[in-house]
Amino acid sequence: MERKQALALVKEQLRPKRYEHTVRVTDTAISLARHYKLDVKKIEIAAIFHDYAKYRNPNEMKRWVLSEKLPQDLLEYGPELLHGPVGSIMIEKEVGIKDPEIQSAIYYHTTGKRNMSLFDQIIFIADYIEPGRSFPGVEEVRSVVYHDINKACWLAARNTIEFLMEHEQPIYPDTFQLYNEGLVKTG
Ligand code: GDP
Ligand code: FE
Ligand code: FE
Ligand code: FE
Repeated sequence: MERKQALALVKEQLRPKRYEHTVRVTDTAISLARHYKLDVKKIEIAAIFHDYAKYRNPNEMKRWVLSEKLPQDLLEYGPELLHGPVGSIMIEKEVGIKDPEIQSAIYYHTTGKRNMSLFDQIIFIADYIEPGRSFPGVEEVRSVVYHDINKACWLAARNTIEFLMEHEQPIYPDTFQLYNEGLVKTG
């Protein structure tokens, strides 16, 4: 699918601010894909569709979790966690994008997980560092991402866990596993 057609399809699904975020994530992901020598056109499609399900009704997303037999524990962490996993299926059913690499990256873009592929990592981290983001610590992540994308993803997980704990929000186990994996590897 061409960029223009893909952007037109997601534009219908998103609010203007989220659409602008999507364009910035796409440009960031393309830059990372060039650097890390991945398929730029394929990363582009994954980035464009990464928040496809963001504004779907929470009850609709819940029904997809049930009917598609996604992990049922997703329902215990608030609706914000559903748009990745549900979006990865919706793009196949509604848009006809059936590609394991693209669908995996969209599935895990919010929580991350251990053992992410480089493709998963680029979508996960592009969402975190796109130029519109101003999370505490994001500058450090931007400064390492072209040298050490594992470190960048670990920092993003650590910062997100800190943020969620500060706000007494539940933390999905995949996010903890990404954090723990980084500690094991870097000692
Ligand atoms: P966005 O869709 O572009 O806004 O970005 P994300 O898909 O990364 O979603 C970000 C939201 O998910 C933020 O509100 C985070 O606080 C929240 N979030 C990220 N990881 C977790 C997690 O492990 N548990 C919960 N409950 N929320 C999370
Ligand atoms: Fe998202
Ligand atoms: Fe994110
Ligand atoms: Fe996003």
